[in-house]
Amino acid sequence: MNERFKVFVVDLEAAQGRVETIDGRNDVAGGSGLAALLFLRYGRPEQSWDHPEQPIILAIGPLTGHFPLMSKTVCGFVSPYHDQYTESHAGGRLALALFFAGYDALVLLGRAKTLSCLSLGSQHLSLRDAGFMEGMNVAGTGKLIRRMFPKSSGHRSIIRIGPAGEIGSAMACINVDSYRHFGRLGGGAALGVKNLKGLVVCGDAQRPVPPGKEYAGLFKEVHRQVCSTDMMHKYYHLGTAANLRGLNDIQALPWNNLQKTADPGIETVTGEVFADRTLLRNGACSGCPVGCIHLGFFRDRFKEDARYLYHQVPYDYEPIFAAGTMLGVTECFDVLRILEDFERVGLDAMSAGVALAWATEATQRGLISEKQTIVRLSFGDAGAYQQAAHHLGLGSNEFYRLLGGGTRKAAAEYGGDEFACVLGQEMAGYATGPLFFTAQSLGFRHSHLDTGAYSREQQDPVKDVAAAVDFLLEDEPYRALLTSMTACLFARSVYHPEQLAKCLAAVGYRELAASLEPVAERIRVLRWQMRIATGFRAEEITIPKRFYQVTTWQGPVDGEYLDRLREAYGRRIMDFALPEAAPL
Ligand code: SF4
Repeated sequence: MNERFKVFVVDLEAAQGRVETIDGRNDVAGGSGLAALLFLRYGRPEQSWDHPEQPIILAIGPLTGHFPLMSKTVCGFVSPYHDQYTESHAGGRLALALFFAGYDALVLLGRAKTLSCLSLGSQHLSLRDAGFMEGMNVAGTGKLIRRMFPKSSGHRSIIRIGPAGEIGSAMACINVDSYRHFGRLGGGAALGVKNLKGLVVCGDAQRPVPPGKEYAGLFKEVHRQVCSTDMMHKYYHLGTAANLRGLNDIQALPWNNLQKTADPGIETVTGEVFADRTLLRNGACSGCPVGCIHLGFFRDRFKEDARYLYHQVPYDYEPIFAAGTMLGVTECFDVLRILEDFERVGLDAMSAGVALAWATEATQRGLISEKQTIVRLSFGDAGAYQQAAHHLGLGSNEFYRLLGGGTRKAAAEYGGDEFACVLGQEMAGYATGPLFFTAQSLGFRHSHLDTGAYSREQQDPVKDVAAAVDFLLEDEPYRALLTSMTACLFARSVYHPEQLAKCLAAVGYRELAASLEPVAERIRVLRWQMRIATGFRAEEITIPKRFYQVTTWQGPVDGEYLDRLREAYGRRIMDFALPEAAPL
């Protein structure tokens, strides 16, 4: 097995690409580790996110294409949200397309001369003008890209942005193969500033199957664990939407901009209701036999005749929280309509929903009015949120452009920072308490998946700062290792470290397999060093007052404990990521 990375580096200005081979497989594995390594090589930490030479990196892992659920791609970029290095992860077909094109990573440098679409594969690169797509929504863009590049063969993946990405919104996502996303922290704007409306990756080469009985036998065993046991069943059945009722029951589900954590309105927005009333079918990322992607539907009737137009919208726990409970919307078809409007303009659903929830409370309190929001916002008014989604994605006025930069930026101008539901970025849907608030605020991606804080908090709510910080620090390297393998994190119960070592050895990465613990730690440190090099300072992260006022099943949040946790965790992050801990 080749232990050097094969990286395709594209100069968008010159419309040319070159293949580079880079050492480091046994140091950083791939995925998250590889993206950080490539940022170390190509990144411009001293420059802002929109500098033309700032790279966008797409990286896959050493097990991609070889084992089930190794289906994610890591996107590394400097975020327009905080102007620091970050990552976003997406499924779909992209990882396998890169694998079959023969690349471990793709690095996009420079800026195309005009709005363009890029197509590449094992033997070709084509950059074509897409000026006629300016301002076009995500669905229309996808249709036109498929027509522009009809001869793409093999495992093809299409990623694209909507108008939110073109205007540089820090809430703009990158749509991946219609139903998956590089959602958070503004990857869509990072692509937009490169004048790239879309990218087609053609997995058009042959890749040999790893030889020997060891691989074949292990593949069967992993496949059996994924399909024949109940380990993954919950993800296929109701999916993560099943969490809605459970979190509401324990007073941990944000409602109405986190003014409350439970509400009887849950009865019409549970996972069961979405499945019974809206579910059309399940979908899956390439290489995944689980199929957790739940596609719901709603329909519109044409006025002029009796026909209906069906819309297919992917749903999950987080989007339902953001377009549903956080906005006080309790009709499942309304939630899907709002989600589709976020999708059309290319906005990350979680960020946009939480931002509009703040705007609604700011309206209630008289800090802003329709002069800013154009349409009157009130909790539960789905039609207003559909219009507001459009304004936020297009940046219709100064208020929406500011809000698209982040809720706290808008609050700095209009007031209302104390009820901005921002934990490093717009919150994920877990009001479980201080441990989660700390973990999301200071986590590397500000993601609920950076650590298992939200589930730990439910299992062990004991207030012990040292033990809690130890848990966060001990949980992170294994997650960084999984995302360096580009495993779907839903498969973390299958891919424990011993299983990963066996899989790596079976495909020929024996040296890497034998050193997973130090590799995981090295990846964790390298990622944080890239983040710190671009400006992250733990002591600058603050948590808005709203999180100190939350009541969960544990009672009111203990503000003093929250402060001590935040300080202790931040200090430990800065300590282990000091430059003298340089891993390479
Ligand atoms: S479980 Fe879901 S998100 Fe994970 S790889 Fe499968 S389809 Fe994709």
